[in-house]
Amino acid sequence: MKILLVYPKMPSSFWTMNHTLKILGKAAWYPPLGLLTVASMLPKTWHTRLIDLNVQPLSDQDIGWADQIFISAMNVQEASARSIIRQCSDLGKPVVAGGSLFTLQSEHFPGVDHFILNEAEITLPPYLSDLEQGSPGKFYRSNDFAHVSETPLPRWDLIALDHYQYGIIQYSRGCPYHCDFCDVPTLYGNRPRMKSPEQIIAELDVFRSNSTVPSILFADDNLIGNRKVLKQDLLPALIKWRRQHVPIFSFSTQVSINLVDDVEMMDLMLEAGFRHLFIGIETDNEDTLKLTGKSQNMRRNILDSISILHRKGFIVVGGYIVGFDTDTLETFHTQADLIQNSGIMLATLNMLKAPPGTPLFERMQSEGRLIPGFSFHEAESNITLNMPSKLFYQAFQQTIQKVYSPEYSFERAKQWLAEFNHLPAVETDIPALNTLEYIPVLGRAIYFIGMKWSGRRYFWRLLWWTVRHRPRLLDWALVSTIFMYQLENLLNEYSQLLEEKIAELPDQKAPPVSTPQSRTREQADISSPYIQNE
Ligand code: SF4
Repeated sequence: MKILLVYPKMPSSFWTMNHTLKILGKAAWYPPLGLLTVASMLPKTWHTRLIDLNVQPLSDQDIGWADQIFISAMNVQEASARSIIRQCSDLGKPVVAGGSLFTLQSEHFPGVDHFILNEAEITLPPYLSDLEQGSPGKFYRSNDFAHVSETPLPRWDLIALDHYQYGIIQYSRGCPYHCDFCDVPTLYGNRPRMKSPEQIIAELDVFRSNSTVPSILFADDNLIGNRKVLKQDLLPALIKWRRQHVPIFSFSTQVSINLVDDVEMMDLMLEAGFRHLFIGIETDNEDTLKLTGKSQNMRRNILDSISILHRKGFIVVGGYIVGFDTDTLETFHTQADLIQNSGIMLATLNMLKAPPGTPLFERMQSEGRLIPGFSFHEAESNITLNMPSKLFYQAFQQTIQKVYSPEYSFERAKQWLAEFNHLPAVETDIPALNTLEYIPVLGRAIYFIGMKWSGRRYFWRLLWWTVRHRPRLLDWALVSTIFMYQLENLLNEYSQLLEEKIAELPDQKAPPVSTPQSRTREQADISSPYIQNE
């Protein structure tokens, strides 16, 4: 049997960081971990190939080679997934589909021949067994959750790691929290399930031996979902392994902001090599956090929490949301201030969406507020908001102008560089990158950002500011300029989409959003102790 695994194209978004790739000389940020794991569960005698559309095109010849085409996709990949399904249908090849897009919306994909839904560790074996008997069914579902401690090592041999900027592994699935807009609890449950340290070390050894990636993403829903096991089990194993091998890569992951309440956990994570953290901050409005069930973010000063993480030695990427029922047009002002005063260089402001399978989706459906025929993308919501749509979209457009434009991301970069502790208190530091390898990246950054980009003055200003104030962070300043460039390109794309959306909507009588009065860094009482120490 010949199986072609196909990973659909990711649209341009904050998450794909696509504008940075030409500077980094890479095709995509992360390999398709789900499909590589599925590949490892197929019979060893089968022939398997994998095509990631983010790296290479899919030809009719590729499809013609295979007996079946396996696709895995998330919501945002819907357009590309549909196009692949059509192409396979035209060529008469059966499509086998899995992943969160199909698990939550299988009824919308009549062109798929077989659905391997929920977790493939459970639903793929019965499909393979039925296929062997010659009578494969249409749907394979399960309400059970897999023991990821039995999940095999992904088939890394199916891809060229050099195409990707980061490596990727997954330690746990599931999250103990109940944010009502999040599909993780529905898809993976509230009890995190973990791989063994031995599994993780085996996966890390693959990257250590076969790649020069500067960072590896732990693609967990919330790494600190089970603190006890993480502290007793994985982190000590990672620390031991890092001391033994001194790998060149750091780790990135997603955590909830209450990490900051656990000093021991932060210290262990730093020692283990974690540096980049994505945190869903969403808002600092307590009523909103209560409404959405995001209790772990409540009763804290968000700016202080972020500052603690920066001073500890973490680099924080923050996600924020507007469009909750408690929000008003004034919320756009407070969100812009919250982001700007955080010193989070890479911040994403999203419209609230209700993914299928979430409590929010159920509520919006019961209130008749779901927009039918919606396809997920960044510049539109699938719910009827509790404020006039045109004003909402106009205010959103004005706010992302503030968050993503280089004028503002430059200021955040300075704030972050001023307080970032680049020498965290660890026994085993991460070796400096091989500068020679990064000379082409530097050359491309100077050409594309420092010379061709309309915001090039911010490139030079940030480098100059860093030379004067924190010269040892010049490499981080360069990375910040690459992110500034990404954000501005994204702003241009989103602005165009938003303008089209706004033009479709009927005029509203209320006045447009005025320019907010921002709180300054001083008013937010965030000082920068490291800046004097250089
Ligand atoms: S903490 Fe994150 S992963 Fe967990 S439910 Fe909330 S949004 Fe989802």
